[in-house]
Amino acid sequence: MGLKLTLKKEKVTFEEAKAIFDRPFLELIYEAHGVHRQHHDPGKIQISSLLSIQWGGCCEDCAYCAQSIHNKKKMPKQTITDLEVIFAAAEKAKAMGSSRFCMGTSGRVPSDELFGMACDAVIGVKKLGLETCLTMGMLHEDQVIRLKECGLDYYNHNVDTSPDYYEKIITTRTFEERIRTIELVRKHGIKVCTGGILGMGETNDDRIKMMVSLVNFDEHPESISINRLVKIPGTPLENAADMDSFDFVRTIALARILMPKSTIRVSAGREAMSDELQALCFFAGAGSFFIGKKLLTTQNAEIEKDLALLNRLNLRPVG
Ligand code: SF4
Repeated sequence: MGLKLTLKKEKVTFEEAKAIFDRPFLELIYEAHGVHRQHHDPGKIQISSLLSIQWGGCCEDCAYCAQSIHNKKKMPKQTITDLEVIFAAAEKAKAMGSSRFCMGTSGRVPSDELFGMACDAVIGVKKLGLETCLTMGMLHEDQVIRLKECGLDYYNHNVDTSPDYYEKIITTRTFEERIRTIELVRKHGIKVCTGGILGMGETNDDRIKMMVSLVNFDEHPESISINRLVKIPGTPLENAADMDSFDFVRTIALARILMPKSTIRVSAGREAMSDELQALCFFAGAGSFFIGKKLLTTQNAEIEKDLALLNRLNLRPVG
C-alpha cells in the first residue's frame, strides 16, 4: 500500500517523503506510474526547446556552471541581440515538435536592455504559437508584472538542491532569495518552473529535502525540472562522483507522487543516459524533455536520436 498524503491540507514532512523514497524500488515506480496515469497521458511527452540569449561572464558562483567568472576556465559574456535570430530558433523548435520555447540568460539579474529584449522576444515567440518560458535570475516585482503583461507563460528559477546542501554549491545567492523570486512569480500569475540538479555530491536525504521544499509551496510548481549533473571541465564539480541511476529515478518517482499534476522534465544530463534509463524516467513520471542540447548549434543527428527514441517508445509530442 502506498503512503497516502493529504496534499496541501498540511505540509509534507521530510519523514513522510523519505518513507516514499525508501520504498522497494519496483513498488515505488509502480505507484509513481499509477499516479502519473491518473493525471497525465502516459502516451504523450511535452517537448521544450532551450535557447541561451545571453551566456557567460556571470558573477554568481554556481559550482556546476560553465558560465561563472569564478571558474578556472572563463567564458566571456555574449548576447544574441537580433530578435530575428531568436524567432528563427523558435520556428525551428516548433518544427521539431516543441510546444514550449525557453529562453535563458546568465547573470544574477538582467540588465534593463536585456530585460526589454526578452519582453519583445516573449511577445514575438507567442505569436508563433509556442508557450514561452524565461530564466533570467532574480527579478524585481515591476519586472514580473511586465512579463505577465507580455504573456509569459512560465518563469524558471531552480532551487538547485536542498536548503542544507545549498551553500556547498552557491555562496553568492541564498536559498531564501530563490524562494522569494519563485513566490513573486507565483504572486503575479506566471506559472512556475523550478527544480534542481542531482549528482553534485548531495545525499539522498538532500534530494528528498529539495522535493519537500517544492511540494510545500502554497501551490505546486506547474513544471519540475530535474537535471543530472553534466561535469564540465574547469568547474568545481568537474570531478564529482557519478550518482546512482536508480536514485535518480527514485527522485523522479518521489516528485511524481508528491506533486501529481506537475509536469516533470528530465532536463540537462539526458544525453549521457542510456535510452533504457530515459524510458525508466518516463515510466516513473517524467513527462517532458528538452530536445537538442543547444538549439542554435545542435546537430540534426542528435535531434533525430531523440525523435527516434520517442518513436521506439511510441510517445507522441503534446500539442
Ligand atoms: S546564475 Fe546561472 S549563469 Fe550564473 S553561474 Fe549560476 S547557473 Fe550559471
